[in-house]
Amino acid sequence: MTGPTPVTAPSGLTAFTPPALPSPADLVPEFRPRCEQLLAACRARGVEMRVNETVRDPFRQARLWRQSRTTETIRAKIRALREGGAAFLAHCLESVGPQHGDPVTNALPGLSWHQWGEALDCFWVVDGEAEWSTTRKVGGVNGFRVYAEEARALGLTAGAFFTSIKDFPHVQLRAAAGPTSLFTLAEIDRTMGERFGG
Ligand SMILES: [Zn+2]
Repeated sequence: MTGPTPVTAPSGLTAFTPPALPSPADLVPEFRPRCEQLLAACRARGVEMRVNETVRDPFRQARLWRQSRTTETIRAKIRALREGGAAFLAHCLESVGPQHGDPVTNALPGLSWHQWGEALDCFWVVDGEAEWSTTRKVGGVNGFRVYAEEARALGLTAGAFFTSIKDFPHVQLRAAAGPTSLFTLAEIDRTMGERFGG
């Protein structure tokens, strides 16, 4: 979690060095132990959940956002970010270049809790294989359901309970949908630039 020049950010983030493998250790100190508790609580109910993604840098978020969107939409958003005082986020979106793929996110770079070390994505492991089904049951239980219930019991926010688009692998520290609920765009831009701008 610590890099050569740690910086202070609104949520206490420090400079980020990309991990070799995603691990709860990459998450903010307030969230990390509860993720470990969550995985242990699932194991106690016979459900193995494995960490798929913790910190996602804003360039990767930009690639995910750009895929499935038109050049016009992307250009307009880059312009809007720049005009809104978010030059670094605009740079993230612009520099990653053309992307192709299915729609996977509505969150712009910086605006997903994954960029803040405050979100965790897990998948279910059944007989040593990744199981992404949110309806399959083994021994009467669905792993994603158990994961969401245990997350809620720990005071975390589970994507399975989102009222818009459900995101079963996703668990986050806060109830707020995203950083824009708590910080201005300029604050988010500064935090992301300090943490990921090199
Ligand atoms: Zn997620």
